[in-house]
Amino acid sequence: MEIILLKMGEMVLKGLNRPRFEASLLARLRAVLAPYGAFEVSSHQSAVYAVPLTESGGAPSGLPPPDGAYAAAARVFGFSALCRAIRCGKDLDGIKQNALSLPGLRNARSFKVEARRADKRYPLTSPQICDRLGGFIHETLGLPVDVHTPGEVVWVEIRESSAYLHTRPDEGAGGLPPGTAGKAVLLLSGGIDSPVAGWRMARRGLSLLPVHFHSYPYTSPEAKEKALKLARILADWCGPMTVRILSFTAIQEAIRKNCPADLATVLTRRSMCRAANAVALRNGAGALVTGDSLGQVASQTMEALAVTEQASALPVLRPLIGTDKEETARLARRIGTFETSILPYEDCCGVFTPRHPQTKPKPEAVLAAEKLYDYAALEAETLKAVEKVEVG
Ligand code: ATP
Ligand code: MG
Repeated sequence: MEIILLKMGEMVLKGLNRPRFEASLLARLRAVLAPYGAFEVSSHQSAVYAVPLTESGGAPSGLPPPDGAYAAAARVFGFSALCRAIRCGKDLDGIKQNALSLPGLRNARSFKVEARRADKRYPLTSPQICDRLGGFIHETLGLPVDVHTPGEVVWVEIRESSAYLHTRPDEGAGGLPPGTAGKAVLLLSGGIDSPVAGWRMARRGLSLLPVHFHSYPYTSPEAKEKALKLARILADWCGPMTVRILSFTAIQEAIRKNCPADLATVLTRRSMCRAANAVALRNGAGALVTGDSLGQVASQTMEALAVTEQASALPVLRPLIGTDKEETARLARRIGTFETSILPYEDCCGVFTPRHPQTKPKPEAVLAAEKLYDYAALEAETLKAVEKVEVG
């Protein structure tokens, strides 16, 4: 019978917090598997077993887990690896026959067997299991054994009630289970960087509250739809989220009308920071997350980042600060946001962009500019009209 076998990642080191981490992890796994039928999910040491059940949920169905279920499990943060495994009886003859049907084994150039016994009363030692099973596979399939650089590895695990067999596992999503590190507001634009930044921090156990700013009618309704589409892709990894959409039209118009043009971007950014802080405060979030990368554009010089950050009472997490655009794009492809992010759109930061933005804004000059318009009232106004959209 085929099941999904998953390995917990670094959370197994979390000592006293481990039960809490494990509960979040199993809850998330159960939630992502639910659309694909009934599963029994259980854990033993650092392994988690997902067994497909019959429709009534009473007994193992004996059917292989659907591909969709496997793909969904591969997106659960907290698992370092996963594979399709065969669960069978513990008698050696049964193990031998089942090993022959392991995926990847027939076409391998060579192989070796790795055995582990959780059941120490099992009549064979691990080296004996390796010997006998290895010999059988070698004779039956004609595959050479190579213990140093095997083409494929057959793992055998003998547990109390059953044996488990599998070949090389796939990489899991890694990181820590959702929500175990607290909550943060993600400043989500429609670009390549901010979804990747959110994904990275969600993988460290943060649950995300995405906030998107638009400047309708200067930005199109499609720009907002694009941010929502990105949030939906993120939700495939992180679970359901509430996206908050705020209008920055009045704020940007006031900045353009009253403030020096070369400071428009940094002033807009500071307003975004304050509005995001307000959202965080209302919802128990402890930090902001942005997609800033040092030196990428005028608003991401060290000086501009410093002045922007001064508008935030909460820490601003910038997981991409030292990441090259190419690396970020690669990650965006892996998580599935890239194709959406590169669709043409206008970001509200591109509205009224000064021709020569100040790359080294002076804090005094920025504070002086902020005296020229009533940002607090405008921000309060836009926060009152927040639009909420559930995704995932
Ligand atoms: P991105 O690809 O994430 O848009 P970028 O390279 O285009 O990043 P900027 O546009 O300068 O960089 O934005 C820097 C960060 O500010 C973004 O990563 C995002 O976190 C935040 N931000 C920018 N525009 C918006 C917006 N319209 N709504 C919410 N956050 C935004
Ligand atoms: Mg952008």
